[in-house]
Amino acid sequence: MIIVMNPRCSAEHTDNVVALLDRMGLAGWVIEGASQKVIEVLGGNGDIDRGALECAPMVDRILDRADPILAATREPGDQTKAVPLGANATMGGQKLGIIAGPCAVEDRERLLEIAHAAKEAGAAALRGGAYKPRTSPYSFQGHAEKGLEWLAEAREQTGLAIVTEVMRCEHVERVAQYADVLQVGSRNMHHTHLLATVGKQSKPVLLKRGWCSTIDEFLSAAEYIMLGGNRNVMLCERGIRTHETYVRNTLALALVPELKRRSTLPVVVDPSHGTGKDYLVPPMSNAAIACGADGLLVEIHTAPDRAWSDGCQSLDLKEFASLMEGLKPIANACGRTL
Ligand code: PEP
Ligand code: MN
Repeated sequence: MIIVMNPRCSAEHTDNVVALLDRMGLAGWVIEGASQKVIEVLGGNGDIDRGALECAPMVDRILDRADPILAATREPGDQTKAVPLGANATMGGQKLGIIAGPCAVEDRERLLEIAHAAKEAGAAALRGGAYKPRTSPYSFQGHAEKGLEWLAEAREQTGLAIVTEVMRCEHVERVAQYADVLQVGSRNMHHTHLLATVGKQSKPVLLKRGWCSTIDEFLSAAEYIMLGGNRNVMLCERGIRTHETYVRNTLALALVPELKRRSTLPVVVDPSHGTGKDYLVPPMSNAAIACGADGLLVEIHTAPDRAWSDGCQSLDLKEFASLMEGLKPIANACGRTL
């Protein structure tokens, strides 16, 4: 539903309508054009009192749409949204956004060495889990706040943006104090309470696709975040589970152009979790950029064979530098830069 306001309305009038929607359990998003203000109504589970909205001061008319409105629906002519990747970069602009780093933050020195190499090779952001979602409760679960401190130190030294996972609602505030981008992992894509919580804070969110989820479920998860007011969401394809066993997950690259067709959110591809094999990471990175991805999330390590997690799918620092070199002509051919 779209509420069209009278062109003479003030901020007080739009605030009043947004407050009215809030009382009905709905969220309103004010869109200001050059000569017109409209309020997009997000969410459809509230109890809509249409009469009250129509009678609110300075409301001109209410337009219905057959489809539930997705906050990031792409209309003809829309551009992909450029989402901030720290202070110096974006994801979704002409320049590709490359996020690289270890699966888990293991120790300070190793993290700093990886960060400097990532920066040198041209990455815009450093990734690394301080809170790790592990399949086994006996596996390393992350260094928690200590890991966040080391990540922040790596940002200070390199200027790279920090991308790190948050798994619990009660950790959101703490992780947001250190990180530039909050990652919601594949296991938590259906954790609607966590999605709503990261939607209520201001740091951008990298949302990874659940390994069994459909495109509609993925976009609905993004909608949960945006309903809270945070529209800085990046969608990350990281492979899904299929009958196939030669790869850890099946990287569904057709999802990239399909997501770009349906939504204005930038799309990131994770060829590391998407294949589980280091030698498949470069070709799938190339393919991801060729089919329109706005960026990559790649696991790298000083010594992959000694990594505490996901060593098999991690590139060493030299391999990462040559991956970046190899991407340049592909990026250029696609009208992008690295
Ligand atoms: C990760 O990126 O560290 C991770 C655990 O990935 P996923 O949530 O896609 O499994
Ligand atoms: Mn990993």
